[in-house]
Amino acid sequence: MVAKTYDYLIIGAGLFGATIAERAHRAGKSVLVIDKRNHIAGNVYTENQHGINVHKYGAHIFHTDYEDVWQYVNQFATFNHYINSPIAIHDGVVYNMPFNMNTFSKIWHDVITPADAMRHIEAERQAITHTPRNLEEQAISLVGRTIYEILIKDYTEKQWGRPCAELPASIINRLPVRLTYDNNYFNDKYQGIPIGGYTKMVEKMLSNIEVQLNTDFFHDKVKYQSLAKHLVYTGPLDEYFNYQLGELEWRSLRFETETLEESNHQGCAVVNYTDHTTNYTRVIEHKHFEYSTQPNTIITYEYPAAYQKGAEKYYTINDDKNNQLADSYRKLARQESNVIFGGRLAEYKYYDMDDVIKKALDTVID
Ligand code: FAD
Ligand code: UDP
Repeated sequence: MVAKTYDYLIIGAGLFGATIAERAHRAGKSVLVIDKRNHIAGNVYTENQHGINVHKYGAHIFHTDYEDVWQYVNQFATFNHYINSPIAIHDGVVYNMPFNMNTFSKIWHDVITPADAMRHIEAERQAITHTPRNLEEQAISLVGRTIYEILIKDYTEKQWGRPCAELPASIINRLPVRLTYDNNYFNDKYQGIPIGGYTKMVEKMLSNIEVQLNTDFFHDKVKYQSLAKHLVYTGPLDEYFNYQLGELEWRSLRFETETLEESNHQGCAVVNYTDHTTNYTRVIEHKHFEYSTQPNTIITYEYPAAYQKGAEKYYTINDDKNNQLADSYRKLARQESNVIFGGRLAEYKYYDMDDVIKKALDTVID
């Protein structure tokens, strides 16, 4: 390849990289995007299989409270009216998620009103009299032990591979607790799925921008660093520095996908399995994200997995040990004056899609 100077070299064609690329290109900058995978869109990649958009790296539901993010993404896709309302199955019994009046009335048969639910929850919350120090205490202080044991404990321990008493409380704060009969998993003002899939949306963001796939930055770091004035790095934070301070920990996943000769397998896009007898945490039925009407269906089992070298790094593990190490790497990152570190992997943050886009929209392009 003939060396060419770009204003921006963007490492990673996920949402952070694609948003910066789109903005820089629109500002008249020359941009090259590289990705080591054989496709764009990072973890929001969807693949059309027999008319069904399969979320290849797990279920992705777009939701945001940021006006600017919502306006931004709507330039590249039309979003449908999908509202995530997963169900949870524990020992063969179905419960509504997130924790709301439908859940409470199923668990406690005398619950009809919010006051009835509060009576049960308050009585159980009393067990925690101090500021919660871990996820178990946080969960019990939020919803009480009964719900903790049916809907949280086993799911969380499968998901993270550690006892709840050894996990940071912050993980559970993502889930709403509501005293209304409302099964919407999110509180945000805007929600939906891009019609036609996320890949199509990212394709539009990257239109007229040079993209090289199957290209790993670390295979020739020196060459890539010399190609552009600014680097945007969206890979793992510790890898950029060759793990010189030690390795950050991650949680991985394994997906098993099947095509079934039936039109509707589980009646819901996302079903959580919250008991320990089932090894997977979730089953996704992709067609329900876009109300597809095919005669067959595609489902994916999601199995949490320990991270092993070469696997995908899906989740950051934001406990004290890893946060401190990430902080030390962030100090090094600040010294790299022409490199922007952004996104879930490069910031080592448990970001949702909208957080990643917000960060990219707030990044100065010069
Ligand atoms: P990524 O999408 O990971 O993109 C980084 C890219 O960089 C990748 O394509 C990678 O191949 C590339 N790369 C890395 N290293 C190199 C290298 N050395 N050279 C070249 N390329 C490299 N968010 C929501 O808002 N709603 C949801 O419902 C939701 N569900 C999720 C479900 C799961 C199972 C997971 C794991 C996450 C979910 N998220 C969800 C979060 C969402 O996936 C992320 O916030 C978002 O995709 C992060 O975008 P990113 O650009 O930071 O990273
Ligand atoms: N969680 C749970 N039971 C459920 C779903 C989630 O206990 O049925 C907990 C679990 O600890 C999980 C956290 O809530 O890690 C956040 O869940 P969310 O669905 O937001 O996670 P993600 O989609 O990021 O995997």
